[in-house]
Order: sequence, then C-alpha cells, then structure tokens
Amino acid sequence: MKTRIPYTKPSITDLEVRYATDAAANGWGEQCYDYIYRFEELFKQHLNVNYAIATSSCTGALHMGMAALGIGPGDEVIMADSNWIATAAPIVHLGAEPVFVDILPDSWCIDPEKVEAAITPRTKAIVAVHLYGNLCEMDRLLEIGEKYGLPIIEDAAEAIGSVYHGKRAGSMGSFGAFSFHGTKTLTTGEGGIFVTNDEGLYERVLTLSNHGRARGQVKQFWPDEVGFKYKISNIQAAIGCAQMERIDELINKKREILAAYHEKLAYVTEVSINLEPPGTINGAWMPTVVFAPETGISREMLQNAFAAENIDARVFFWPLSSLPMFKPVLSNAYSYTLHQRAINLPSYHDIHSDEIERVIEVLLKMLGKARSSQ
Ligand SMILES: *Cc1c(COP(=O)(O)O)cnc(C)c1O
Repeated sequence: MKTRIPYTKPSITDLEVRYATDAAANGWGEQCYDYIYRFEELFKQHLNVNYAIATSSCTGALHMGMAALGIGPGDEVIMADSNWIATAAPIVHLGAEPVFVDILPDSWCIDPEKVEAAITPRTKAIVAVHLYGNLCEMDRLLEIGEKYGLPIIEDAAEAIGSVYHGKRAGSMGSFGAFSFHGTKTLTTGEGGIFVTNDEGLYERVLTLSNHGRARGQVKQFWPDEVGFKYKISNIQAAIGCAQMERIDELINKKREILAAYHEKLAYVTEVSINLEPPGTINGAWMPTVVFAPETGISREMLQNAFAAENIDARVFFWPLSSLPMFKPVLSNAYSYTLHQRAINLPSYHDIHSDEIERVIEVLLKMLGKARSSQ
C-alpha cells in the first residue's frame, strides 16, 4: 500500500510548542489574557483592520457578529448555496432564514446578480463567503449593499492570504470572520476571530462576547443582557501567535502548492482549478478541480480513484439547500451541478512534490480512461 497523503494537516513547529508550553506553564492569573491580546494585535496588523475579537470558532464569530447586526426572527440573510453549514447555522439559531442563491461558475462564489434579485423587504444582510480561497466580487457586492442599505458580512474562514485589489479578505465588509480549525491555513486547533473597522459593532460584539457584560460595567457578575460565551483560550491563542509569526510562510506554501497543481494541469482543458483574476491574490486554502461535464467524470469516480491510491481527497460542498433541514432551490444550477464533478485536492503544508505528482497521476489517468470509454 502506498503511503497515505492527507488532504490537510497543520504545520506545527518548535515555536508553536514553545508558546503553548509557556502559556500552559505561566499563562494564568495576571497573564491569562496575554497571548489572546497579542494574537488579536498580530491579526489586526496582518489584516489592516481596527478591531478584532478572538473566538472559539468562526461559527461563534459569525453568530455574535450577526446578532450584533440585529439579525433575528423574520429576517432573511442571502448567501451562496455552495457552502459549509457553519455559515448558515448562526442565521438559523438567530431565528432568521438563510436565502440560498447560486454561485458563479468560475469562482464558485456567490453571484452578485442573483443576490440583487433575491433582495426583499425582509432582507437583513448578505454573506460573502470566499470559497476555497477564491474571492467574491466584493466591489459589486459592496455596491449592492450600499444601494439597499444592507451590511455585507465576509466569511473569510477559507481566505486568509487572499487579497482583493489591495484589501485582504475579511477586511472589506461590515465585519469579517475567520476560522482556525485544524484544517485551515492558520490553526489553533479550534478557534476563530471576529474583525471589523466599525467601532460601534466592535463594542456591541465585545459586550455580547462577555456574557452580555458591558465594558464599563463596574458591578461584578452583572450581565446587562443575555450574551454569548465563544472565547478562545490563552493556550490556543499562544499557538495562534506562533502561527501568525509564520503567516507569510504558511500562505506562501499554500500558494506554491496551488501553483504546482496549476502548472501540472495547465494543458488539461477538461478541468478548472481555483482562479486568480487580475488584481487579486488567492490564499489558496484548498486546491479544487472541477471537471467539465463532457468528461463524464463524477464525484464518486474521483473518490474511488483517490481512495484506491490512498490519497485523502474531499468532496466539494453540497448545496446547503439540498440538506434535509432546508428546502431545495433547484434553480441554483451551478451549485447543484458543479459539486457532482469536483474534488478538493491534498494541500497540507509539508506535502512533497512526489505526492503532488501522485495526485496529478490519478487525475490524468481518469481523464484517459474517461476519454477511451467514450
Ligand atoms: C471552516 C469554515 C467555517 C467554520 O469554522 P469553525 O471555526 O469550524 O466554526 C465557517 N465558514 C467556512 C466557509 C468555513 O470553511
């Protein structure tokens, strides 16, 4: 059996271990928030935003940010159908309704024209998810937001390192949210962060994040309202600080891996890979290939072929509206078809060029087979 190629795996060096050890040994009492504050500072600098609140997950950051925007029962929030459930869950928990619209066929991100068509008097916000590192058309989305007075929320969980015309993903909307789950480019095991340039929104989330205790409240154990508890721990933040010191290295490696796939598949017209339109940088979280319909290659064929070679490849996100708890939106044609002939390729930090070669071989072999069987 060939050695297993994992699809993601964090890059943990002595630096992460040293900081985590220090936090575990010394990060208590007066020092119990030191790594958290340091991590928030490093993240703000990297993103060029004014405010950041580290959280236990991206889902938690989204939940609090959405609550702070006043999203609640009866409201609609527009988002792309092709997504991870984490973006939709907080909308549902707040009693609002996710409205799923189609994606663009090339970036796999939300189609701004479909967004505008889906706006109703109940619409309260629009979520831009930068899928697999690919960027949403932020200029157009922000213009729509401006026109209808709607906040644009950026779920940048998959887009650390992605830059849109000089601005980092997550820094352009009303607020941004990132994930530091073990599969993401930067990891703290579990973790996330809320970022914004809106001082009022920041203060609101800060209060909510502290079980509803306002910053100026002097009475002890006195919440002013019911809030949330989505805090990151100092130990997790210590790992995050080490990862932030290595952030350029972590992003560059992801970009190199995507570039290698691009290069090897440059002459294969039957597949499309993550795009990098002019004026943008793709953070390359997850190299993904979508096969052209004519190839006849399906997700199941891809999964079987990779499994046979002991390569861990993952399926493209299902349309959320196809899941049992939502109503199908079959008119989202791209969301309902792209995922049937797509796969996420391995892209862990220490992946070897021989391993990339093995992945490419599987893809080429499949295409050869599919061609000869036609
Ligand atoms: C990973 C991910 C999340 C969830 O992040 P958690 O930290 O696990 O809550 C949210 N949105 C997208 C797009 C993601 O990929």
